Amino acid sequence: MKPCAFDYHGPTELDQALELLARYGDEAKVIAGGQSLVPAMNFRLAQPAVLIDINGLQDLRGTADSGDALRVGAGVRQRAVERSPEVARHVPLVARTMPHIAHPQIRNRGTFGGSIAHADPAAELPAVVSALEARLRVRSTRGERTIAANDFFVDLLTTALEPDELLIDVELPKRRDGDGFAFDEVARRHGDYALVGVAVAARCDDGVCTQVRACLLSVGNQPVRARSLEESLVGERPTAETIRSAAAHAASQDLDPPSDIHASAAFRRHLAEGLLRKTLTAALSEASGRELGAS
Ligand code: FAD
Repeated sequence: MKPCAFDYHGPTELDQALELLARYGDEAKVIAGGQSLVPAMNFRLAQPAVLIDINGLQDLRGTADSGDALRVGAGVRQRAVERSPEVARHVPLVARTMPHIAHPQIRNRGTFGGSIAHADPAAELPAVVSALEARLRVRSTRGERTIAANDFFVDLLTTALEPDELLIDVELPKRRDGDGFAFDEVARRHGDYALVGVAVAARCDDGVCTQVRACLLSVGNQPVRARSLEESLVGERPTAETIRSAAAHAASQDLDPPSDIHASAAFRRHLAEGLLRKTLTAALSEASGRELGAS
C-alpha cells in the first residue's frame, strides 16, 4: 500500500523544526528512523498531512556526560547506542537490551527517541527507561520541560508529549557501586516483538536490597511497574526463595495482561513469573555480589 499524500519539510536547525511543529500541530508528524511511522502510513493507520523530518538535526544526535547521568540524543540510531562503549560502561541495562530490539537492519535506521516517543507497549526501551527512572527532555517554541519516564507513557501509543513538542534527549542515570541490572524477554522468533519482557534495576548495600525497579513490557497498554514486588524486596537480604515468592505474587496480583492473537493472559502471566524470577536473580546477584542460585 502507499501512504496518503503529504507535504515534506526537512529542517536543518532545531528551532526550524520547533516552529514547524508549532505551525502544523496535530496535522504534522515527526519522522525519525521511519521504522514504525512509515509502515503505519503505508497501512493508512497514520495519515499526517505534513511530515517533519528530524534526521538533519545535529542537536539530537550526540551523547553527553552530565555527571551522574548520560544524555542520549533522541536522534541517535539504536545501533549506535548498542555499540557505544559509554553506554555499555555507564548504562549497562540499555546496552544489554538493545540486541533484543527488532533486527540489525531496523536498528541501523530506528532511533533511540523514536522508539520511546512511539510508545509501543511491546517495545523494549519504554520499559527500560521506566525501570531506570530516566528523565526525558522535551522542547517546543513555548519552552523546555523534563518528564519522568514513568509519567511519559500515558496509554497505548500515547505519551505526555503535546503535538508541538519534540523529544530532545533522555537522561539515563549512570551505574553506581552496588547496582545490578538484567533484561530478558520471550519472543516467538528472535527479532519479533516480545510476548512478555522484563527490565530490572536493583541496588544492594552490604547484601541488603535498598532498591528494586522491575518493569514489564507487553502486559498492558504501557510499561507496567511491578510495584508490590519492588516494595516487598526492599530491606531484604534476597535469597532464591524470596525472589521466587515475590515473582509468583507479582504475576498473580500485580499484573492484568491482555489476551490477544499472540498469547492468552494466562500464558503471559506464566511467562512474566519466570522472567521476573530470572531477571531478579541476575540483577540482585550482580548488585549483592552473591550468586543467588538457579532461577
Ligand atoms: P519513527 O518510525 O520515525 O517514528 C515513530 C513515532 O515516534 C512517530 O509517531 C514519530 O512522530 C514519533 N517520533 C519519533 N522521534 C520523535 C521525537 N524525537 N520527538 C517526538 N516524536 C518523535 N521496536 C521494538 O522496540 N522492538 C521490536 O522488537 C521491534 N521490532 C520491529 C520489527 C519490525 C519488522 C519493524 C519494522 C520495526 C520494529 N520495531 C521494534 C520498531 C523500531 O524499533 C522503530 O525503530 C521504533 O519503534 C521507532 O523509531 P524510529 O526512529 O524509526 O521512529
